[in-house]
Amino acid sequence: MKAKKFLMIPGPSPVARSIQDQMGRETIAFGDPDFVHDFKALLADLRGLWKTDGELFVVAGSGTLAMEMAIANSTKRGDRVLVVSHGYFGDRFAEICMRKGLEVDLLASEWGKAVPLGEMDAAVRKEKYQAITVTHVDTSTGVVAPLADIGRLMRGYPETILIADGVCATAAEPEQVDEMGIDVLFTGSQKAFGVSPGLMMLWAGPKAMARRKDLGVIPEYYCDFDKWVPIMHDPSKYFATPAVNLVWALKESVQIIMQEGLEPRYARHARFANAVRTGLETLGFGILAEPKARASTLSGVLYPAGLDDAKFRSFLAEEGVQVAGGLGAYAGKMFRLGHMGNIDQHDLVSVLAAIERTLLRCGQKIKLGTGVSALMESLAKHASA
Ligand code: PMP
Repeated sequence: MKAKKFLMIPGPSPVARSIQDQMGRETIAFGDPDFVHDFKALLADLRGLWKTDGELFVVAGSGTLAMEMAIANSTKRGDRVLVVSHGYFGDRFAEICMRKGLEVDLLASEWGKAVPLGEMDAAVRKEKYQAITVTHVDTSTGVVAPLADIGRLMRGYPETILIADGVCATAAEPEQVDEMGIDVLFTGSQKAFGVSPGLMMLWAGPKAMARRKDLGVIPEYYCDFDKWVPIMHDPSKYFATPAVNLVWALKESVQIIMQEGLEPRYARHARFANAVRTGLETLGFGILAEPKARASTLSGVLYPAGLDDAKFRSFLAEEGVQVAGGLGAYAGKMFRLGHMGNIDQHDLVSVLAAIERTLLRCGQKIKLGTGVSALMESLAKHASA
């Protein structure tokens, strides 16, 4: 029998059976009162969980659409933005801003390191920015940005919109929109929500909505907040066809999140991330992100000497686990392991065991069970977390 490939890439993450079931339902009209009722309930729950007095948008499209939506609705050509980048997805923001005709100042770290808060402070003191973008977790490096601290810093700059990319963070790393001083937060369905790709969610706080108003008519159509606000308040109205089955799937995912509770979910992600990394380090791997900036959602895992990336990942897939390759300068030097969403400790044990079998097949001298033991000890030690 062909081994099942467990999806441990940094998104999409594994999709729980009950969520898959929602996608397998017979599609109904988006104006059907049953669907309108479900969509409304989902929007209310998402508003309540990430708390903003502003607006929420759930739109068909991937995370990149949400990046464009954030920029389109908070800036106009010629505006100046500060892009804080911890890797590939931070750099993508810079590219989107440049395409829009914005003046971009890029504050980028060496891969694996976090931009010090002091550098952001110095930048915003020196220059007036209409917006600052921060990738909460950059999926290329596994670096987490100190978003709460950045939110506090930016409270001193009321003319600047703080845009947070939560694609690889929301529902796994602590985030509160208004409370943390975030003006725009967005994410995608396929990561810590554990839904198939295809939906983006974006929260726009009161300051972001005021900025949108100031902009008047914007060139963008599909991602204009003004087009979507009436639909988000009353989903029986039409602007563009909602992804009916994905909305149901996201609703089920939010039920799972609410049953677990956001705080326990954050704690679980941190505990799992620590345990997985402890296991991997025991087996001789390194972690790209510096210790104080390691994300709960994924790890950039550096190979020990003598391990061939292509061979390792293809053997690992044969052993039943799919991981992603390194990006940029880290292609061939590391793999990226997702550990987010609706996974449990059985899954982690299986993943570590598959990695151990793969190491043996690659000729590494390890003792079977050492990584798994370290993982389990770490889980047990922090069981009350
Ligand atoms: N931002 C981050 C942090 C991401 O990880 C990704 C996707 N990996 C994106 C943006 C882009 O999202 P998508 O691929 O869904 O368009």
